[in-house]
Amino acid sequence: MSSTTATKSFRADLFAGKTAVVTGGTSGLGLATARVLADLGAEVHAVGLGATASGRPDENLKFRDLDVTDDADLSTFFSGLSELDILVPAAGISLGQRELEWESFQRVVSIQLLGVYRTIELARPLLARGGGSVVTIASMYAYFGGGDIAAYSASKGGVVQLTKSLAEVYASEGIRVNSVAPGWIDTPLLAPLKADERSRDRLLSRTPMRRFGEPDEVASVVAFLCSDAARFVTGAVLPVDGGYLVTGI
Ligand code: NAD
Repeated sequence: MSSTTATKSFRADLFAGKTAVVTGGTSGLGLATARVLADLGAEVHAVGLGATASGRPDENLKFRDLDVTDDADLSTFFSGLSELDILVPAAGISLGQRELEWESFQRVVSIQLLGVYRTIELARPLLARGGGSVVTIASMYAYFGGGDIAAYSASKGGVVQLTKSLAEVYASEGIRVNSVAPGWIDTPLLAPLKADERSRDRLLSRTPMRRFGEPDEVASVVAFLCSDAARFVTGAVLPVDGGYLVTGI
C-alpha cells in the first residue's frame, strides 16, 4: 500500500468489494484518484488517453485507452462492466486562448461537459443497482470567469449545475452526485501557468496556504465523498483549494 494522504486517513478496506471507473484516470488528479480508490480496496478502471504511459497497473487497478468523445467506444466500455459503485468523470483539457475559436470551444465542451454527462448517463443503470456515488471535477473557474480559457470556464460552470441537477434526479435511485472544485493543483495541466513566474506568484499570493495542491489532496476528498461517511451528502460542491476561494483581491 502506498502512503498517500488517503491511506493514512481511511481504513485500508474502505472500498473493498466496490468497483470504480475514473475517466481522465491516466494522469494528474484522475490518476491520483484511481490509485487512492485502488489502495482503499476498490477494483478500479482508469480510462483516458495515453493509458500505456500511466505507470504501474496493480492487481485492482487497470488502465485502458478511452476517448470520452467516442460514443461507440464509451458505450462498449460500459456495456462490458457488470457492476459499478463509484464514478469519477475527471477527463479534461484546456486549450488556452484558442478556446475562443469555435472548433476549440466545441472540443473542450465536448470532453468536459458533454463527455461528463454521457459518461454519467451510461453508468447510471449500473450505479443504481448498488446505491452508487458520482464525484465530478469542477474548478475555481466554475466560480470565476476566465477570459483566457472561456470554454474551460463555461464547461466547469456547467458541471456544477449538472451535478446539482443530477443529484436531485438520481436521489430516488440511491445515487449520490457531488463535486469537488480543485484550486491550483500540481498536475501536467497546471504546467504552463506554473512555468510563468508572474502567474505563479499571482496565484500563490492569493492562496492563503501559499502553495499548489497535490493530486492526492483532491483524491482523498473524492474518497471521502464516495464513502459512507458522506452518505447524506448529495449535490454538494466542495472546494479543495488551500483557501483560494475565500480571499478577495
Ligand atoms: P491532466 O492533463 O494531468 O489529466 C487530464 C486527463 O484527462 C488525462 O488522463 C487525459 O488522458 C484525460 N483526457 C483528456 N482528453 C480526454 C478524452 N477526450 N477522453 C478521455 N480522457 C481524456 O490534468 P488534471 O489537472 O489532472 O485534470 C483532471 C481534471 O481536473 C480535469 O477535469 C481538470 O479540468 C480538473 N482540474 C484540474 C485542476 C488543476 O489545477 N490541475 C484544477 C481544477 C480542475
